[in-house]
Amino acid sequence: MNAQLLEGVRRPLRAAEIPRPEPGPGQVLLAVRACGVCRTDLHVLDGELSDPKLPLVLGHEIVGTVAALGPGSERFTPGQRLGVPWLGWTCGVCRYCHAGRENLCDRARFTGYQLDGGYAEYTVADERFCFVLPQGYGDLDAAPLLCAGLIGYRSLVAAGDAARLGLYGFGAAAHLVAQVARSQGRRIFAFTRAGDEAAQQLARALGAEWAGASDGVPPEPLDAAIIFAPAGDLVPTALRAVAKGGTVVCAGIHMSDIPKFPYDILWGERVVRSVANLTRRDGEEFLALAPRVPVRTTIEPYPLDRANEALERLRAGRVRGAAVLEIAR
Ligand SMILES: [Zn+2]
Ligand SMILES: [Zn+2]
Repeated sequence: MNAQLLEGVRRPLRAAEIPRPEPGPGQVLLAVRACGVCRTDLHVLDGELSDPKLPLVLGHEIVGTVAALGPGSERFTPGQRLGVPWLGWTCGVCRYCHAGRENLCDRARFTGYQLDGGYAEYTVADERFCFVLPQGYGDLDAAPLLCAGLIGYRSLVAAGDAARLGLYGFGAAAHLVAQVARSQGRRIFAFTRAGDEAAQQLARALGAEWAGASDGVPPEPLDAAIIFAPAGDLVPTALRAVAKGGTVVCAGIHMSDIPKFPYDILWGERVVRSVANLTRRDGEEFLALAPRVPVRTTIEPYPLDRANEALERLRAGRVRGAAVLEIAR
């Protein structure tokens, strides 16, 4: 099968022909139709996450149809369309798994990082971690729901019942979470790179009442802020923007160092927290909610053999909405 292969960090992906994977016990073989391109893929490529499988097929927003079942696999039927997210396997026995916090599992394995992902014509996945996707979404449109949507949703829950919500970095995740937040009656304040008119326009089109540069001051204090951009210097900036009791949620898996800041911007029961990975329950909740909002995805499609270009456009902040690979065969 054709795949885009990561053979070493800080190197571009290489188009390669590799053996089609065989589904093991409890796994399904999926014919991949679309795979989202996530900021996390760049963190893996750049060596900012310490433990990638190599060589590796990136991609953890996979939409595919069941092409074969592994031994004992019985949850799905051939031809069924499924989604595969970042959380690819958990141990089921550690204290986190037992407490319903499998996103923190000590031995979790992640798709497109420790398990091969969806930048390829086929992939295998543990059937217990696959999702049935809502009808009414095309394959390309459904892909960003699987990480940008899920992590955005988990971040929004972590932000509590904040009425005035700031979103720092208005890309794949923020453009989805903004729609959910608006449907809940929240007010949205969008922060982008200075001068990024396209992102600010998208934010306003999706219901943000204010959009401006990320180092700017919102017109009124916020009750919570979610930081999607991997820039640690946004943490003190966001803390200064939230009112007493407000929460700043760091939604990314990697962030540059957070500069030191005076205690008085945390004082007043402000909270800084991160969001890590997802649980299957997050996925089920969000995928049921998305069509009811309804959440609409804005995508930039790329063929599989232009994965490097999609990644570099994402790095440069030039993707409007979410970049998605379209896998044709
Ligand atoms: Zn566990
Ligand atoms: Zn992701």
